[in-house]
Amino acid sequence: MENNQVSSKVSSKKIVAIVLAAILVVGIIVGVFIGINAHQKNVVSEEVKKTCGEPIKVVATVNQWGSLAKSVGGDCVQVDTIISGTGIDPHDYEPTADDISRISNADIIIANGLDYDDWATKSITTDQNHYLFDIGDTLGKKAGDNPHLWYDPNNLQYVIETLHDLYKNRTDLDSAKKAFDESYKAVSSRMTDLTNKIWQDSSNTNGKNYAASETVANYLAEAMGMENKTPENYKNAAENGSETSPQDLNTFLSILKNKEVDFLFYNTQETTSMTDQIKTTAEDAGVKIIDVTEQKPDNFTDTIDWISSIVDNIIA
Ligand SMILES: [Zn+2]
Repeated sequence: MENNQVSSKVSSKKIVAIVLAAILVVGIIVGVFIGINAHQKNVVSEEVKKTCGEPIKVVATVNQWGSLAKSVGGDCVQVDTIISGTGIDPHDYEPTADDISRISNADIIIANGLDYDDWATKSITTDQNHYLFDIGDTLGKKAGDNPHLWYDPNNLQYVIETLHDLYKNRTDLDSAKKAFDESYKAVSSRMTDLTNKIWQDSSNTNGKNYAASETVANYLAEAMGMENKTPENYKNAAENGSETSPQDLNTFLSILKNKEVDFLFYNTQETTSMTDQIKTTAEDAGVKIIDVTEQKPDNFTDTIDWISSIVDNIIA
């Protein structure tokens, strides 16, 4: 009886081992399959070909524009993004040879402009077949203007409309034009929701003061009616990338200590020991900190979702 119990214990252990091994094997097969699929993402299905013809090849320098380009174009565009995460500083990016070849082979190249991504635009030749959509340029902005254009809801709206026109003009197929109109309609309605939210919520933020470790989200703060109280000298140094003096830092810290601002916009993608000190001082004083980044974090589908969540956080 005892022996039997022992052997039944052993055999149930064996069964567990076999089941685990089976799960592992299935996992590997599924993993390999997903891997193959990810690699074949550029292979266009027959169904998509029927509607779209050959999808338009779009390359975006950064994911805040790439994700929007995909939402506007749907299945009829293939979007490749050079900087697709929040792990690197886009201002100082050095493109690889592979990056340059990807950019050169695109039908449409989307660049932020305003020296934000000149590493992409200065090294390529553009023509009818390789159209460059330089957002800062077409918005009529000048070098030295705040380049973080995607934080302004008006600019998002403008880019959505421009991309929709660009896409439609590149196809003769009625079915593709119709597909573009449908995806545009879906994006536009989400964009309207975001704009409405900013307008409605700005009744809570209108006239409030903010300071920023870096200019990244200033357009959004302005759209929500806030006033920038970042000390002038600190602001200028941050914009020009020059050294901040200890006095200028102290002025900033005292504004936070005295709670002269309601919000601190903190760029988590560009931090130094100085910005750390700014953040800690704001925390200690009970100033509300809004974490922002340059690129869209992975957990958001596109820039509309992402900015919308930042707005929620501001008014929460
Ligand atoms: Zn920046």
